[in-house]
Amino acid sequence: MPLRETPRIISRRLNDPDAWRLERYLETDGYDALRKAVTGLSPAAVHAEVRASGITGRSGGAAFPTANKWELLRQAEPKYVVVNGDESEPGFFKDRTLMELDPHQLVEGTLLCAYAVGAKYAVIYIRGEFALAQERVTQAVNDAYDIGAAGASVFGSDFDCDVVVQPGAGAYIVGEETALLESLEGKRGFPRIKPPAFPATFGLYGAPTIVNNVETLATLPWIVANGGEAYHAYGGGRFFGTRLFSLAGRVNKPGVYEVELHHPTFRDLFFDQRLGGGIRDDGRVRAFIPGASFPWFFEEQLDLHLDGDEVSANGSSLGAGILVLDETCCPVRAAWRLVRFFARESCGQCTPCREGTSWLEKIMHRIEHGDGRKDDLELLLDVGDNISPGPFPHPPRPELDEPARPFPYNQTTICPLGPSGVSPIDSTVWKFRDDYLRHIEEGACPYKR
Ligand code: SF4
Repeated sequence: MPLRETPRIISRRLNDPDAWRLERYLETDGYDALRKAVTGLSPAAVHAEVRASGITGRSGGAAFPTANKWELLRQAEPKYVVVNGDESEPGFFKDRTLMELDPHQLVEGTLLCAYAVGAKYAVIYIRGEFALAQERVTQAVNDAYDIGAAGASVFGSDFDCDVVVQPGAGAYIVGEETALLESLEGKRGFPRIKPPAFPATFGLYGAPTIVNNVETLATLPWIVANGGEAYHAYGGGRFFGTRLFSLAGRVNKPGVYEVELHHPTFRDLFFDQRLGGGIRDDGRVRAFIPGASFPWFFEEQLDLHLDGDEVSANGSSLGAGILVLDETCCPVRAAWRLVRFFARESCGQCTPCREGTSWLEKIMHRIEHGDGRKDDLELLLDVGDNISPGPFPHPPRPELDEPARPFPYNQTTICPLGPSGVSPIDSTVWKFRDDYLRHIEEGACPYKR
């Protein structure tokens, strides 16, 4: 079935090289939604539009309804809005793109959120390595103050809100919301134990806090300007509107694409000429990773829809960055690189994660580099089991020769980073067992010759 034509909601300015400038933003309806809200709509009415839109969090697979998250904060005082701009997952680059190319849209969305929940203080936390994003979002915040869109009496109303930009120090784990709050408080970015430390009840400086992702908030100006129902008209099931996907790997046209949820399939995303444009050199999809922390999919799953429930029912989760591997890619090498990333980014609080991911990385390194041992596959699964205990077997993956660990993973750790290091191994050790054995028996990576 051909892809439905849908409007570009969140990405409509991304092809405009001047969209990051205030003048250009104002020419393209910039800050109209905020002005409309603070001068003509009550906070509850803005909240109601967001509820009607059905938008869910756009950071990863959890997809919690945004309006429900806000509900938890309406009565609290004081409270904060924190923007999670610490996008660090391998293969994710859509929030960075939004911050660099359309920063005012994020600033306006942040202020709309603060207005709806009654917060007087918002922080935009941006990953340490995103120098251009930090520069442009900071400029956009300064511009917003200059035109009366931020600070005291926003657009002459009785709504006051200060917005600050806080650069991170460059740790992946700070993308986890409670670690981000620790970092904002000037401490090491250690995830807090949940429960009880859910940000809505115990957030920044112990006060109730909304932590929303960049894309979620940047979508709000469109929703407020056009109405929640207009947004709700796209998508289906439990997933409405459109969403940005970073597409990388062996597709002809890697990039950031805005796609309606629920209706298109992964095949559409990879092969449609308006999107990924097919596999390089007319190759075949061997595997695709719907989020670096999540179980991998294979050619057999290309016709799954971009719908969180359908993806979950098939044993993974719908992330915001998808990596595509073809037959020229070594699955062992790809898995090792991901495990190495998670091992290096472990914050070290939990022994199973700190020690276990390092062990996994060492074993994967020796297999990929020709020093693998006969019992290494068993050892990998055993070490993985100490981070994410079984139980085996996992029923809904009949295409696999043997069962994989059930997802979402159990964890012996405080946060999901530990299990993220297990995922690439568990995804490949059954499916590409022959590849692993060739590495071990031939003493080299067969893809390097
Ligand atoms: Fe830190 Fe890893 Fe424990 Fe998460 S699982 S808190 S990253 S040691």
